[in-house]
Amino acid sequence: MANLRDRWADNADGTFYVDRTCIDCDACRRIAPAVFAEASDHSFVARQPADDAEKRRALMALVACPTGSIGTSPREDAGPGIEGFPETVEGNVSFCGFTSKDSFGAWSYLVERPAGNVLVDSPRAVTHLLRDFEVRGGIATLFLTHRDDVADHAAFRRRFSCERVLHEADRSRETADLERYLSGEDPVPLADDLLAIPTPGHTRGHAVLLYRDRYLFTGDHLAWSTRRNGLIAFRDACWYSWKEQTRSMERLLDYSFEWVLPGHGQWHRAESTGAMRRELERCVAWMKGV
Ligand code: SF4
Repeated sequence: MANLRDRWADNADGTFYVDRTCIDCDACRRIAPAVFAEASDHSFVARQPADDAEKRRALMALVACPTGSIGTSPREDAGPGIEGFPETVEGNVSFCGFTSKDSFGAWSYLVERPAGNVLVDSPRAVTHLLRDFEVRGGIATLFLTHRDDVADHAAFRRRFSCERVLHEADRSRETADLERYLSGEDPVPLADDLLAIPTPGHTRGHAVLLYRDRYLFTGDHLAWSTRRNGLIAFRDACWYSWKEQTRSMERLLDYSFEWVLPGHGQWHRAESTGAMRRELERCVAWMKGV
């Protein structure tokens, strides 16, 4: 919970504030860009919400913050923020909010399918999400893109008996007893509409998930950057091999998709699969030059 005594001095005067426990994960700035902005190493309230819609976005950022670094004084009811999640991205794909400190605020997604819902990476297992997922039919599969974003996977397994999927190269003591491990570099169909694609690079066992040849859940492999106005990989946060990650990126040119839905960085929808392919080609060329 945020502490008023530790609020950053650069917060705009008013109800909402960010305190010094902020880890600069970017979630609040993406959820409520009208309110939160970036300083050198943290977020702050650049402007207090101007209306109810902005206030609701700020409350969504408050509950999504992995470190509880956003506070209100006087205290506001967080209910509208809680009820904002899961937030529809498009159709049956939603952003879960409630990011976890254990995964540095990585974003997770829910895919609602008649054949069984899929959770991509783990949000915090808060009561609201557990109940909401239950109402939506539970979770059949928890796809873990890589070892860093597993967070509360065990709690989701306990509640929903879901099959947890992770590449064996990212197996650790914490994920030693999952239900399914991918191996090698060949793509693995998890269902007719779900394809797991190993993408070693960020970590040795990183994998992405392609849904209906439209949505690519990319974990920490690939994201959109507004600064570069293009697709990027995180050179400074490549823990295994940039060379391998570049090769994995090039292999993604074999697939069609319109959406990139990452754990960190911006999501992006291209106008068409062809436009996304051109973006990806630019990204590969950029990676080869870095
Ligand atoms: S969501 Fe929380 S931790 Fe992340 S940048 Fe905002 S205040 Fe900081």
